[in-house]
Amino acid sequence: MKISVIGGGLAGCEAACYLAHRGYDVTVTEMRGVKSTPCHKTDRLAELVCSNSLKAVGEDTASGMLKAEIDRLGGTLLALARKAAVPAGGALAVDREKFSLLVEEELQRLGVKVVREEAESLPKEGITIVACGPMVSDKMAECLAQKCGAGLHFYDAVAPIVSAASVDMNSAFFAARYDKGEADYLNCPMNREEYSAFREALLGAEKAVLHDFEKGDVFEGCMPIEVLAARGEDAMRYGPLRPVGLRLADGSRPYAVLQLRKENLAGDAYNLVGFQTNLKFSEQKRVFSLIPALREAEFLRYGIMHRNTYLNAPACLNADFSLKSDPNVFIVGQLSGVEGYVESMASGLIGAINAARRAKGEEPFIAPPTTICGALSRHLTAAASNFQPMNANFGILPPLEGGKIKDKKMRKRAYTLRGMHDLEEACAAAGL
Ligand SMILES: Cc1cc2nc3c(=O)[nH]c(=O)nc-3n(C[C@H](O)[C@H](O)[C@H](O)COP(=O)(O)OP(=O)(O)OC[C@H]3O[C@@H](n4cnc5c(N)ncnc54)[C@H](O)[C@@H]3O)c2cc1C
Repeated sequence: MKISVIGGGLAGCEAACYLAHRGYDVTVTEMRGVKSTPCHKTDRLAELVCSNSLKAVGEDTASGMLKAEIDRLGGTLLALARKAAVPAGGALAVDREKFSLLVEEELQRLGVKVVREEAESLPKEGITIVACGPMVSDKMAECLAQKCGAGLHFYDAVAPIVSAASVDMNSAFFAARYDKGEADYLNCPMNREEYSAFREALLGAEKAVLHDFEKGDVFEGCMPIEVLAARGEDAMRYGPLRPVGLRLADGSRPYAVLQLRKENLAGDAYNLVGFQTNLKFSEQKRVFSLIPALREAEFLRYGIMHRNTYLNAPACLNADFSLKSDPNVFIVGQLSGVEGYVESMASGLIGAINAARRAKGEEPFIAPPTTICGALSRHLTAAASNFQPMNANFGILPPLEGGKIKDKKMRKRAYTLRGMHDLEEACAAAGL
């Protein structure tokens, strides 16, 4: 049976792999190659647009719990990400080029057809999974608006990348916070004066364009560094520039520290962690070069900011990610109202599971509310007047039965244990 996937990003590729593994005849339509988006840099499938981190892996983290759920449900992309991993302490970070290559090889191996064109409308027949992401093309956005009402949006930002060779190693040092795990991060310390001068320059720097995000329309989890800096003298020191758990060579604690994370396996490029920005490119070079270790930094990619579109999911989506107005159409990924790389993969996977179930005439599979997948589905479909995209976090899970566990780590593990137990039961009941 044929199933069409529109959009060859994280959600679309995850969905395509799941369905092709199970014998469906899958076509992925991807416009990059003939038409790009404001944030993608290549025509590769499953391109990561910003950070190369797929976040934490520990079972006492919400992202770790979501990863365990994806593994149980038969996801493919995380397994490929592990093969493309670069060292990143307790996080799963990847060499983005290798990751894309592995995904493309897997799709080819599974016999998935990839068509390079902009889909301007939905197929009239059959089952379709729409995974066009936050930078959905205008024509497809229009088509979806006609089917389910106008899309919503916020503004999102990308962090710059510098070449490793250009980092001044006399002013930088490798270390893991609290010496936990391998020393994977390259730390760029600042003293009080350097920090103040940097913040002042940041606040006075010229922005690329003045958009609505100036009015506060930004996603908290991906806030531009200049917006954070404006929140107060120490806001950055409690955020991406926090110095806790790091020591200088003389044993003292630095005043503020920017961490750089490896971009690729070769280790010749580094991402400025938490430094997503909307400054003009020339201003990024001027202001970020005030950080001593970046004095001579060569910028391989500058940060950018742009519109991030998503549907008003409570009004138009069912909990299985199908459209209320047309249950043969599934909307997955960021466009559906989840936020994040791994969350997008998860929704692609659940959408594919349900597309397959619909094709076979089976009941939808809705993950239990005690799982991150299930809680995200609930968030998407619960009526909210001001619907906002959601990422994996423990706050969306129902409270633990039997009262609160005081120890934070134990409490988080208890969420994971409960969720995985419930997921196992739900999968057994659904024959998954
Ligand atoms: C600027 C920015 C920075 C982000 N940074 C992070 C981050 O650091 N960490 C994180 O976890 N999440 C981040 N996100 C959030 C989000 O997780 C990613 O955008 C993620 O890639 C979404 O996955 P997706 O599969 O939904 O969309 P995408 O990965 O964007 O894939 C969608 C695909 O659909 C294609 N497409 C669009 N329209 C059409 C059409 N009409 N026909 C055919 N193809 C089409 C696009 O070319 C694209 O390849 C960021 C988002 C943005 C916008």
